[in-house]
Amino acid sequence: MKLLEAKPVADKMKQDLSKRVESFTRRTGVKPKLAVVLVGDDPASVIYTSKKGKAAEALAMEHLTARFSEDASPFEVHQKIQELNQDPSVHGILIQRPLPKAFKEEEVLYWVTPEKDVDAFHPLNVGRLSLGLKEGFTPCTPAGVMEILKFYEIDIAGKNAVIIGRSAIVGKPMATLLLQNDATVMQCHRRTCALPEITHKADLLIVAAGKHHLIDKSFVKKGAIVIDVGIHRTPEGKVEGDVNPAGLEQVAAAYTPVPGGVGPMTIALLLSNTLRAAERLSRSI
Ligand code: NAD
Repeated sequence: MKLLEAKPVADKMKQDLSKRVESFTRRTGVKPKLAVVLVGDDPASVIYTSKKGKAAEALAMEHLTARFSEDASPFEVHQKIQELNQDPSVHGILIQRPLPKAFKEEEVLYWVTPEKDVDAFHPLNVGRLSLGLKEGFTPCTPAGVMEILKFYEIDIAGKNAVIIGRSAIVGKPMATLLLQNDATVMQCHRRTCALPEITHKADLLIVAAGKHHLIDKSFVKKGAIVIDVGIHRTPEGKVEGDVNPAGLEQVAAAYTPVPGGVGPMTIALLLSNTLRAAERLSRSI
């Protein structure tokens, strides 16, 4: 079983990005800048936000964190985002999830202007992706999976792809991207019956259910490629996925390990979207 590690893919992407950032900054005198809006002090969110900042610095990009306490009102956070939307020095804006309960997701989705919506949450960008229009953004995690498939030269045209999960940020855009690349896509979710019968049809099995070790080798067709999007911290402090890797090598042809598989791609794609936003915004001035 081939291990589809993210490191060489992310390293190559970062090398390319670094050159593009340098040439953008030379041409415009401006550094691409990412703003992260962080509400509350969820420990994982604090770590993710700091990692995004460090990754931006490593590529000579700028970043800022707009930080609010857990009891901040949606009104004051929205006002800050409107300020960032107007600020010409900011090119990409990301609202770190999860947000406190006082925030209504169906309203928050519209807050970041589509031109700076590097997480691709805005309904306009969701629509653009689903229509295959290039001017939007692609959500970072599914885009990262596509980069892994491309890097390892895995041709998905005509293959049966099964996705477990239908979230707006992973499962659904993953299905759209695979369909646009000519896979035959089946999407499973919490109410899917006879899951193993469906997964046994999968040449490409993408697991994004958020359930620790939901899938094991008994779900996997011989020769399948297994992509594990899940991230879980076990009580012992280990990071594991939605797929139990024990004995997987007896059936799967290739697998993205956790940690080290899909996870490291997400930040690389976020910075790529931020640079793209900066390039587009500089053209529209
Ligand atoms: P989510 O909870 O929003 O969605 C989970 C989906 O899985 C739902 O559509 C649900 O119907 C489906 N599901 C749940 N249990 C199921 C079951 N038993 N059988 C079939 N389907 C089932 O989660 P999400 O935001 O899409 O994230 C999924 C996983 O990916 C999580 O572990 C999350 O931590 C991880 N994640 C990783 C990255 C990364 O950078 N690698 C990014 C985002 C999410």
